[in-house]
Amino acid sequence: MNKAPFGYAVVNLGCKVNRVEADGFERLLAERGGIPAPESAADLIIVNTCTVTGEAEKKTRKAVRHALSAAETAKVVVTGCATEIDASTYEAMGDRVTVVPKARMALYLEEGAFLSQLPERRAEGAKSKDPATLLPTDGRTRIGIKVQDGCDNACTYCIVHVARGRTVSRPADEVVSEAVALARAGVREIVLTGINLGSYDADGCDLADLCRRLLEETADLHGPGENPCRFRIGSIEPMDVSMDFIGLLAEAEGRICRHLHLPLQSGSSRVLREMARPYDADEYRQLVDYLRAMVPEIALTTDVIVGFPGETKDDFEDTCALSRHAAFSKIHVFPYSMREGTPAAERTDQVAPAVKADRASRLRALSETLAAADRTARAGTVELALVERPGHATTESYHEVFAREDAPAGSLVPVMM
Ligand code: SF4
Repeated sequence: MNKAPFGYAVVNLGCKVNRVEADGFERLLAERGGIPAPESAADLIIVNTCTVTGEAEKKTRKAVRHALSAAETAKVVVTGCATEIDASTYEAMGDRVTVVPKARMALYLEEGAFLSQLPERRAEGAKSKDPATLLPTDGRTRIGIKVQDGCDNACTYCIVHVARGRTVSRPADEVVSEAVALARAGVREIVLTGINLGSYDADGCDLADLCRRLLEETADLHGPGENPCRFRIGSIEPMDVSMDFIGLLAEAEGRICRHLHLPLQSGSSRVLREMARPYDADEYRQLVDYLRAMVPEIALTTDVIVGFPGETKDDFEDTCALSRHAAFSKIHVFPYSMREGTPAAERTDQVAPAVKADRASRLRALSETLAAADRTARAGTVELALVERPGHATTESYHEVFAREDAPAGSLVPVMM
């Protein structure tokens, strides 16, 4: 295998799963002799795309155009969800563009046929990287592991389940070995990610079983006086949160962060039904109440779509009321975005853009209020926080806080809220 050095840049858009996949591309590129470089000095630029909203797709096209202009001779590989839905748009962007389906990316990088298509090797401005390292080059201290891909649901606004296909879970042994290697390398917070993480099922091992194994097998992989690594659940659909999992969360003493990102999408049962979400507002409320009773320290964050077709003022008020009841510490607000090929895009009762914008801004303001209230409620308590960079850390409950300047990046330190 040709291992002459070449400069590469990986441009990642979208969700945490994409981030983890992009880290995997970097590892494979390092094994082929690649050295991270700025886009302007790269011989190969990979753009890992996103199609979740119209805005994400716009950013994706801009990223590919930017890659083509940043380095005049670089080969540009475009992969990910946007290309699964519409490869031809990207193929038409220039002779230097190659579209590679996400499922083939690992093989494409391992086989290394692309090496012969790279311009003269320059690798200017590149930093050398130990190919064996598991850690990303950009200084991130919280590292993701992808444990699952795809989704068997069919939410009527969503194109991601089309782009990603049916649900597939990685074998538990593989996930555990990756976590053990990260813990040995000193990583103190590992994020479990998936497109529909709660559907994890590898030969009968569900998410709670997987978490139990991860806790056991990494419990002692830390130095004297250090905290063992902890795990954060990326995002979990409300209907997939089992009693068994909640019991584990309550017992794990923070080694599974007492923070769940539970997508709500709407607080109106009628809208949820039209979205084909498999729960109603009452079931969501009951889940939140049960979580708060069993795990009093828990922090809850969420995603909400505002302006779904047919959403009325009352539906929106129901969303605000349920958000207040759930006391979310962060609401990611998405104005509804029409995705061609989805049932919701066909509807004739689309909400006017100005109404969507107004509801989005009101819900973002509510999110700020609720975040401040959650911080106030935690005042005086102590949480372990992951130091992201000197002086800055993120708590178990996912609030950003100041940490001691001398606390090393990547360590877990106690912080008074
Ligand atoms: S749960 Fe719904 S929104 Fe999430 S990926 Fe599956 S179909 Fe899309």
